[in-house]
Amino acid sequence: MSVERTLAIIKPDAVAAGAAGKILTRVEQAGFKILALKMIRMSFDDAAGFYAVHSARPFFKSLCTFMTQGPCIPMVLEGGNAIARWRDLMGATDPAKAAAGTIRKDFAASIEANAVHGSDATTTAAFEIAYFFSARELQ
Ligand code: ATP
Ligand code: MG
Repeated sequence: MSVERTLAIIKPDAVAAGAAGKILTRVEQAGFKILALKMIRMSFDDAAGFYAVHSARPFFKSLCTFMTQGPCIPMVLEGGNAIARWRDLMGATDPAKAAAGTIRKDFAASIEANAVHGSDATTTAAFEIAYFFSARELQ
């Protein structure tokens, strides 16, 4: 089991709903090390750059607007198989399809406002971590 880093975000819907603390408790209970964490309000361009891989999708503009609607909490999680383990803990993109006990099942309202983000591979994790955090913030 290799030690990995992944970029997680508590999205604006979950922050607005007052679920950030409960989600952080799940992060800690799952044994992840929180290497870095901050609260930010993204601009449309911040969100568009972050989700550039989805720029051709029909939901892209709506997704970027959603991500700017209030503050969100990006964080870097470290642990064995962190990328897959965090995605397992999040559950399916669509909360209606998410397994019982997952964060999206318990806190997400829709396929767009789905409470949390997680990197999907080592290359995307490296890009996404550097998008929000400098090397100095990761010590
Ligand atoms: P994330 O990248 O945020 O961790 P994911 O990897 O489960 O989520 P992606 O396919 O990468 O899902 O989609 C990125 C985000 O775009 C989703 O988390 C969701 O907020 C939004 N999204 C995905 N599909 C749809 C859709 N069909 N309609 C509206 N929004 C969507
Ligand atoms: Mg994704």
